[in-house]
Amino acid sequence: MSAIEGKVVAITGASSGIGEATARLLAERGAAVVLGARRTERLDEIARQIRDRGGRAVTRAVDVTAREDLERLVGLAVTEFGRLDVLVGNAGISKIGPVADLDVAGWSAMIDVNLRGVLYGIAAALPVFREQGQGHLVTTVSTAGLKITPTMAVYAATKNAVRTLLEGLRQESTDGVLRTTAVSPGYVRTELADSIDDPEVREEILRNMNQYAIAPEAVARAVAFAIEQPREVEIGEIVIRPTTQN
Ligand code: NDP
Repeated sequence: MSAIEGKVVAITGASSGIGEATARLLAERGAAVVLGARRTERLDEIARQIRDRGGRAVTRAVDVTAREDLERLVGLAVTEFGRLDVLVGNAGISKIGPVADLDVAGWSAMIDVNLRGVLYGIAAALPVFREQGQGHLVTTVSTAGLKITPTMAVYAATKNAVRTLLEGLRQESTDGVLRTTAVSPGYVRTELADSIDDPEVREEILRNMNQYAIAPEAVARAVAFAIEQPREVEIGEIVIRPTTQN
């Protein structure tokens, strides 16, 4: 029996890419998955396919910039499946470009989704984790925060803010209730480049994706690895990038 069997896992950004692959893999390994994103038709189709294969999946429209949406997602896990073992705070956008372009709206959007969205997830899940006496917070950060490159500064800053947040939370949680894991992917073949407004920057990222990117299922396996560890083992950070990425 997989150590994932029977766990209840809520995933934000589950309508495509890494979140979708994670939902499918965890459901295959016996988790009940609670899927959140804005594109509900896609969520519903993914959930239907999971259920057709004998898995357990429910969906909810979630915009992570709205605190109450995260509360409803966590609430759905509890009402449908009785508990929440893991929250995967994965939703993210990448409105990258040179800082000098002063795309203030893009900066705000990234802060709202990539950082505030994770904070709202924590606000929703932490009380449930504390009441249960256990819980696991997994977030998708990025190698963009480890090796800073031109055009990625603000995006990387949001990801490093989440990395910092998780480390602080970890240090406040040594009573054994909460585990935290930051999953840090390099280039992964997903729809993320669609959120880049600057056509030149988008072209460059798509070129890199075509050259390097690994499949989202590789990241899903990393998430599964963190989740399936025994309770006393916390995988703090996993860096997973294409072997050929510089
Ligand atoms: P995708 O664009 O395929 O997935 C992003 C997901 O986030 C979608 O499901 C989207 O759903 C969701 N999302 C975006 N905005 C919101 C919002 N306001 N509320 C709720 N959900 C939202 O890209 P990835 O799978 O690549 O991205 C997943 C995570 O991985 C992101 O955090 C990204 O930063 C990170 N990452 C990706 C890398 C890559 O190379 N692909 C590398 C490193 C990190 P919907 O639009 O339906 O709401």
